[in-house]
Amino acid sequence: QLRLAEDVIARVASENLETIRILFADQHGVLRGKTVVASGLASAFRNGVAVTSTLLLKDTSHRTAFPVWSGDIGFGDGMLTGASDILMVPDPATFRVLPWSPHSGWLLCDLFHKDGAPIPISSRAILRKAIDRLAATGRRLVCGLEVEFHVYRLADPRLAHTDGGMPASPPETSLLSHGYQLLTDARYDALEEVMDDLRRACQQLGPPVRSMEAEFGPSQCEFTFEPDAPMAHADAMMLFRSLVKQVCARKGLHATFMCRPKVDNGMASGWHLHQSVVDAATGANLFMPHADGTLSDTASGWIAGLLDHAAETCLLTTPTVNGYKRYQPFQLAPDRIQWGRDNKGAMIRGLMEPGDRASRIENRVAEPAANPYLYFASQILCGLDGIERGLSAPPPVESPYESAAALLPKSLIAAIERFEMSEFYKDRLGPDTVAWLTRIKRAEWDRYLMTVSEWEQREYFSLF
Ligand code: GLN
Ligand code: MG
Ligand code: MG
Ligand code: MG
Repeated sequence: QLRLAEDVIARVASENLETIRILFADQHGVLRGKTVVASGLASAFRNGVAVTSTLLLKDTSHRTAFPVWSGDIGFGDGMLTGASDILMVPDPATFRVLPWSPHSGWLLCDLFHKDGAPIPISSRAILRKAIDRLAATGRRLVCGLEVEFHVYRLADPRLAHTDGGMPASPPETSLLSHGYQLLTDARYDALEEVMDDLRRACQQLGPPVRSMEAEFGPSQCEFTFEPDAPMAHADAMMLFRSLVKQVCARKGLHATFMCRPKVDNGMASGWHLHQSVVDAATGANLFMPHADGTLSDTASGWIAGLLDHAAETCLLTTPTVNGYKRYQPFQLAPDRIQWGRDNKGAMIRGLMEPGDRASRIENRVAEPAANPYLYFASQILCGLDGIERGLSAPPPVESPYESAAALLPKSLIAAIERFEMSEFYKDRLGPDTVAWLTRIKRAEWDRYLMTVSEWEQREYFSLF
């Protein structure tokens, strides 16, 4: 792996690259940035690349979340007032050459103020801080990813690049129909050409792909990834979502990580995160259960922490209005806060057997649109808190959709309210970060309330 900026600059020259995309993951886990010509790369490493700080203030609309930034949240000493610039400083370890755009390099950045001070609300900074906190206790998290997404064929492939790859509705047709076709070979064969292109791009770029599946729903696919460190996987997820969307767009397809696209018989997409905590010195898996199958103290505390903080964490694992339409019973997605042993209806699925060095939990709570840095940071902070407070996991559930466990938040606004009130996150992320994310997400919710859905129209228009 190329670690040093000089190595990257040399490679850009030797491969005759023309441009480098200089990008950072914003609060929504969306890549934003600028493209520099190859000769500008040395300066980008040395001085950073200036970009407007309004990018940090945006909800998902075309507007900034705050019409006028007043600095009243207080982070960065009001340095963001007036949409002044901030700096993207590339991390050379993230350098890639994009196989679907071979003249173009790709670099992920950390964010700094112009005086060189790091910006604490940047996604990578938040995850790094959580990783360091766990490392200070002599432990580290190993995680493995399962990511579901949908791919549609566009009626007019030229639409693939309009409006940032977002086709006007409804030109899509499903690549696969619905039916009892889960995991059939025929279904995979129908998808194979797309899957091959995506898999090859992963193998060239690094996301450690393990398997591909044709999932339940029409047009639904899944990729799974080998275990790796949280920062590596968060960066890999940014790359993966980009490569899926961009490779598909070049084939006249539209790929989406939106949780529950509006299609007949559609299934929601989940983002399952396998987690085990290992001893940083010995590498021993601390989730290995005792010989009689009872949970290790580490696993018990970690699970208890994830459950204890699940409601206030939802804003970080399930950050969209749409993501809450997945928390329904009997869809292999969770609807309440509990764990079970190898139970796909429970939020946390325990996969821990005596002697199994791959003992782990799978948290099924998240949607694939989540910001990977915030999602992974939340898991580390909650799990560690459970360990440090000496919490014990409750008994596992057998019938997840009939248990007495508390429900997950029912809507984005319920999740926002839990997060906003969270003393835990105010302490761990800082009150400024909590206030900032809350404000951005409230703006998104308020925009949602401005629209009237087809369902409401059908339900009320003639009745009342
Ligand atoms: N789509 C489900 C989810 O939302 C998972 C389905 C599966 O595991 N086969 O998590
Ligand atoms: Mg799976
Ligand atoms: Mg699946
Ligand atoms: Mg899974």
